[in-house]
Amino acid sequence: MSIRLQNIAKHFGTSRALEPVNLDIRDGELIGLLGPSGSGKTTLLRIIAGLESADREPAGRILFGNRDVTNLHVRDRRIGFVFQHYALFRHMTVFDNVAFGLTVMPRKSRPTSGEIRARVHRLLEMVKLEELANRYPAQLSGGQQQRVSLARALALRPEVLLLDEPFGALDAKVRQELRRWLRHLHDELNFTSVFVTHDQEEALELSDRVVVMSNGRIEQIDTPDTLYRTPTNRFVFEFLGDVNHLEGSVRDGVLTCGDARLAVDLPDGAEELLLRPHEVELVETATAKAHLPVTVTAISPVGAEVRVELEADWLGEPWLATVRHADYERLRLTRGMRLFAVPRRWHRFPDERSTPESKR
Ligand code: ATP
Repeated sequence: MSIRLQNIAKHFGTSRALEPVNLDIRDGELIGLLGPSGSGKTTLLRIIAGLESADREPAGRILFGNRDVTNLHVRDRRIGFVFQHYALFRHMTVFDNVAFGLTVMPRKSRPTSGEIRARVHRLLEMVKLEELANRYPAQLSGGQQQRVSLARALALRPEVLLLDEPFGALDAKVRQELRRWLRHLHDELNFTSVFVTHDQEEALELSDRVVVMSNGRIEQIDTPDTLYRTPTNRFVFEFLGDVNHLEGSVRDGVLTCGDARLAVDLPDGAEELLLRPHEVELVETATAKAHLPVTVTAISPVGAEVRVELEADWLGEPWLATVRHADYERLRLTRGMRLFAVPRRWHRFPDERSTPESKR
């Protein structure tokens, strides 16, 4: 089911939670709403669900496929909902929790008890909880409870699944597992999903497209790869990962900052360049184009890469470089070692210089 939001805005009293927003979600897409706390993600999700109504002015519209659902009650929107805190019925078994929505359907459309049993078993099989069907929520781990929530949300065969920080309360490993899992279910059952997260990694890993929000505005909507590589503005760039800053002044094609120099093809004037950690190469001798002396202050192997913290007199804040294990060994990196940084690539947002606050 495709979802189209046209001119959806929201105020709470006089404070604005959402500027007028337009968003087109394709049938079968898995969309992540990503942004810092207070950016309006949950408000947008709740408006899609019908748990919250949008402002009357401007008169926005919400379409599910060709159906205008703007004024439809949440119950009539055919939505599955998963919240951060599992919201399971504590006095019911796993089986009964999943079956609940089906058992309270109007008699006319309610499946027979045999059909309900079969459907619940199939769902529990999909979420790999068949063996725990007779347990109560208190007898399950957080991850298992969240899988029950998911099965329960899917029992009514929603065309749209909405998830509000679904894995927020779980530890890193379980989160990781459930993410893969949600992706798998989504692909198998082919519904449209929208989930809220403030975790960049989660959004980038799970989504077909990510909607990046700040201050009630949509900053960019793109695939994870495009967002990471070609952010359209500084906020998106800084929000999506670690950033190194290089500020200086350019004269005759050379940017100077203290005793650091970098050849750049830019006009004369003040300049600020931004680099991702993987865009910083470490070498033993400066090159003709880059003379950026740095000292290694910390080294931490993280998964497939080694994170190296770098300091220098010409730097305000330390830089972070990620290097492959092979390079780490070849360079024999140790704390206190003096090296040179070479930018492989850099980014700039000349119209959006950082404010003193954001640099701190
Ligand atoms: P978080 O990640 O912290 O949940 P969010 O991006 O989901 O944040 P929202 O919960 O959508 O942000 O909130 C957006 C803005 O609207 C915030 O400034 C918040 O304080 C305000 N807000 C949200 N719900 C209400 C409400 N019921 N009454 C008044 N203000 C609200």
